[in-house]
Amino acid sequence: MEDRLYDLIIIGGGPAGLTAGLYAARSRLDAVLLERFAPGGQVLTTDWVENWPGTPDGVSGFELIDRMRTQAEKFGLRIENKEVVSLNLSSAVKELHFTDGIARCKALIIASGATPRKLGVEGEELLTGKGVSYCGTCDGPFYREAVIAAVGGGDTAVEESLFLTRFAKKVYVIHRRDQLRATKIAQERAFANNKIEFIWNTVVQRVRGDQKVEAIDLLNVKSGDVSTLTVEGIFVFVGIRPNTEFVGNVLEKDQYGFIKVNLEMETLIPGVYAAGDVISKNLRQISTAAGDGATAFGSAERYLAKID
Ligand code: NAP
Repeated sequence: MEDRLYDLIIIGGGPAGLTAGLYAARSRLDAVLLERFAPGGQVLTTDWVENWPGTPDGVSGFELIDRMRTQAEKFGLRIENKEVVSLNLSSAVKELHFTDGIARCKALIIASGATPRKLGVEGEELLTGKGVSYCGTCDGPFYREAVIAAVGGGDTAVEESLFLTRFAKKVYVIHRRDQLRATKIAQERAFANNKIEFIWNTVVQRVRGDQKVEAIDLLNVKSGDVSTLTVEGIFVFVGIRPNTEFVGNVLEKDQYGFIKVNLEMETLIPGVYAAGDVISKNLRQISTAAGDGATAFGSAERYLAKID
């Protein structure tokens, strides 16, 4: 990437970053969006989206992100494949460090998203990719007519479990409480699906298997009963953690590591904004990420007008 001072650099190519990028491109700012993988973030691994306004028939996550990217690029947004390893935000010119160089900008939007959390139990890491998965859309088709488990009680667990019933003959949903956190409509669909069986008040203690997953050890947290469930796969959907490794300790974060911002997506450092799943908030949706991205852009644009 060119070594010069950009007006705006956006880190992350999910809905927040692409929305900020779309607005920046339409405002003819000298902006670039950096993405370490393929643009899309978690939406890429979301099978079907039906709460993005304007799509009454629903839309696949892949198509939605492809359309967002095409729209931003149509107005001239540059997207570069780069991983930021650290930041230097100590002066007005912000520095982004890569393994092979640096980039400099006047304003920065951090929209680096979040990553699925792990259970942290024995066998999980060893068998990841061999029956342990964090993405139903990616790996579901490998489990045709199989008996599998999904862990978690949030929207991801319930929606992905419903998706997995397209392939598996049985999906056990293992939840540590006796009530789901997922939205009611998703719950209703899951309760009505005869391929899904809930195992309540239960946690996974160990993933068993040699070359691939063969079974999981379960603990009922109410009764203390332990059991072993034979499954060919286990899908872990127990929430997310922020992608903030490169941020260091210069920005204020909440107890879980999500970046704190105000309503204008401003951090405590002038010219530095954060948007989307990486910020501390309650509702992490494509629509809220897009809104955050637009707001962050607006703040960045006002800041740039002021300093120029
Ligand atoms: P989440 O809402 O944080 O739910 C995580 C689930 O995993 C909870 O049920 C939690 O149990 C459970 N859990 C956490 N740690 C655990 C552990 N160590 N062992 C066992 N269970 C554990 O996460 P999410 O479902 O990934 O959703 C993240 C955000 O994205 C949410 O805001 C969600 O609404 C949103 N989302 C929206 C959609 C949609 O609207 N279409 C789809 C997917 C995600 P407890 O309930 O006991 O805490």
